[in-house]
Amino acid sequence: MRPGKHLSSLLFPRARCLCCNDPRHLVAGQSLCPRCRDALLEMKTSHLCCPRCLSFLNQEKACSFCARGGLSGIERAYAPFIYRDEARMLVLRLKFGPFEEAGPPLAMAMAQAITGQGFDFLVPVPLYRDNLRERGFNQAELLARMLQHHRPELPLLLALEKTSKTRRQSSLGHEERFVNARHKYRTVANVSGKKLLLIDDVRTTGATAQDCARALKEANAHSISLLTATVAA
Ligand SMILES: [Zn+2]
Ligand SMILES: [Zn+2]
Repeated sequence: MRPGKHLSSLLFPRARCLCCNDPRHLVAGQSLCPRCRDALLEMKTSHLCCPRCLSFLNQEKACSFCARGGLSGIERAYAPFIYRDEARMLVLRLKFGPFEEAGPPLAMAMAQAITGQGFDFLVPVPLYRDNLRERGFNQAELLARMLQHHRPELPLLLALEKTSKTRRQSSLGHEERFVNARHKYRTVANVSGKKLLLIDDVRTTGATAQDCARALKEANAHSISLLTATVAA
């Protein structure tokens, strides 16, 4: 390697966009290039979904999911992004690295999604201990800690424990997912009378969140809302 080239690569480390891997258009200090940041804005849920449960409205005025009872036990659901393209890529990077770069854009958008709302605690959805050992960290807890940079007044409470393994949800149908996710969580902290905000990376059917809410409600939590970085279409 020519000495000049070596020196310049030390002075200007070649950063790449986390989503598209493009090194050319990256602005210093950003983990996404401007194109991917714009694309991420297109993944915003706000104009497409029911404000209560985040189901797709598909031109309808009223949400048919909420009309059928909605997410039982969950007061409100918040998610800044739809789980696809750039937003999906960020969630995958959060799990498989580099999470230090993938987390902040998600956490910032999550903080904006709950502006003006009051909660007593952030409660990350836990992983089963074998999965935690395998991965080394819980991505939901990581998001909650990054969220605290924006909402330092919200304390973290590791209120839940996952008591058994869940079969991979992706291999199952809608009804099976609810049976599969039933009674997998228990409360391990005092949540009595508290307004809780569950934190997770992705919401698909909402079965996991509803099972967490059931456990927290049985422990007399005042209310449970849900904040995920993304919601699957
Ligand atoms: Zn990019
Ligand atoms: Zn709804």
